[in-house]
Amino acid sequence: MKQEQIDALRLHTIADQKLLIDGRWVNAASGQTFPAVSPIDGQTLCHIAAAGPEDVDQAVQAARRSFEQGVWSRMPPAERKKVLHRIADRIEAHHAELAVMGVRDNGTEIAMAWKAEPGSAAGSFRYYAECVDKVNGEIAPTPEGTLGLIHKEPVGVVAAIVPWNFPLMIAAWKVAPALAAGNSVVLKPSEDASLSLLRLGQLCLEAGLPPGVLNVISGTGAVAGDALARHMDVDILTFTGSGPVGRMLLKASAESNLKRVYLELGGKSPNIVFSDAPDLAQAAKVSALGIYRNSGQVCVAGSRLLVQREVHDEFVDRLRDIAVNLRVGDPLDVSTEIGAVSSARQLAKNLAAVQSAQNEGARLVVGGQALHPIEGGHYMAPALFDRVTPNMTLAREEVFGPLLAVMPFDSEVDAVRLANESTYGLASAVWTGSLSRAHRMVRAIKAGVVHVNTYGGPDITMPLGGVRQSGNGHDKSMHALDKYLDLKSAWIQL
Ligand code: NAD
Repeated sequence: MKQEQIDALRLHTIADQKLLIDGRWVNAASGQTFPAVSPIDGQTLCHIAAAGPEDVDQAVQAARRSFEQGVWSRMPPAERKKVLHRIADRIEAHHAELAVMGVRDNGTEIAMAWKAEPGSAAGSFRYYAECVDKVNGEIAPTPEGTLGLIHKEPVGVVAAIVPWNFPLMIAAWKVAPALAAGNSVVLKPSEDASLSLLRLGQLCLEAGLPPGVLNVISGTGAVAGDALARHMDVDILTFTGSGPVGRMLLKASAESNLKRVYLELGGKSPNIVFSDAPDLAQAAKVSALGIYRNSGQVCVAGSRLLVQREVHDEFVDRLRDIAVNLRVGDPLDVSTEIGAVSSARQLAKNLAAVQSAQNEGARLVVGGQALHPIEGGHYMAPALFDRVTPNMTLAREEVFGPLLAVMPFDSEVDAVRLANESTYGLASAVWTGSLSRAHRMVRAIKAGVVHVNTYGGPDITMPLGGVRQSGNGHDKSMHALDKYLDLKSAWIQL
């Protein structure tokens, strides 16, 4: 990652964008577009075609046609695997371009986006490429004179709706296993970060993915997303985003064709620091980054920090020192630690949450105000709150911004109770020097992910998903492949 390379790429003009349907780039049937506005400086990067119901239908029909014709679903597994590897090659060849384009679109600091976006997207395509020819069926232990075969088959048309915080990484977590399983896909990016996914569509074509197998339709959630969720010929809807939209999608499925819906939703993840943590300085540093990086726009962010009372005040002091020294600014500067907030709307939401936490009695230790390092952009100083109580809105509701709520606890039992006092269950962490306590906590915490003496990092080999209102599906790992396969039983009389 070189600053000169980034500086050159940030000046590139971005052409207006069309929809990718059946291997062709087309305008929306209505002719409507929407602007891609950069949160770095509020400038319009380009205009993007806004898919309507007619375009969604065309994309689903193209996906269905390609599926039924078998151009991908019946391609020999060894060949499919090569295409997925070539997609990873294309992503790697365009790593810098994809990273910089994504940051211009959503404002994530480049140091993070560089690895998390093209880096992990290429890794996902490689991982699932290697799975293609390892999907074996089963023979059931049936009585003599019979043979029970269990086939694993692609399901058909998969619709993927993704958010703006890590568009390329999250889309790859869905598209790569869905394609590896032999399905055809319609991908809808967020209207706040479409560019890198439209580019991914082009790279997939160049890698030899047959037309219609991956369609990318930009557009708003209310129009394009809703039409996809209600389409009668979509078999699976895989979604990452907010809880309220997740609920709408379940309803849309119930009111249309009962398509399978996988939800990866938000969280209010507890990060628990015991007084016997091996290194409190390291715990404070990693905990601060665990909520503040990408301006807190990370689904697994440790937004509730529970600290054992003996070390509470010392820990808050450490966090304050870290928070005030974090470099907030131009996300395309390699030394920036926290980039832009993704939109004016999200910044206003964050600032309102700061105000409401203060109104409810939490103490703002530091930060929480809008910053203006670049004219026209959206930036915010990381906010640290203590004296937060479990009934406060800040302790219960996801903000999706750089706001950390600190609460004290006395005992392990107390910590477990507080940690589980949530409607969510996405991620969590425990900092302790006791191996036994670490294992007890891993079992006791209701969450899809428990970190021990770290925050963030599980790679593609580990499932990521939540329990309770954080969702019902898992991205990543071999388990994600199963989501996109159907089981078929063949009962044979011998
Ligand atoms: P969002 O729910 O507003 O939007 C997500 C996607 O849904 C976008 O593509 C949007 O256009 C679409 N959408 C919006 N309304 C729709 C509708 N009525 N019908 C169909 N589609 C619709 O979420 P966001 O603001 O983009 O992302 C932030 C949320 O995502 C946070 O809650 C965060 O925790 C969550 N998230 C979860 C994970 C995870 O893995 N669990 C990862 C990243 C983000």
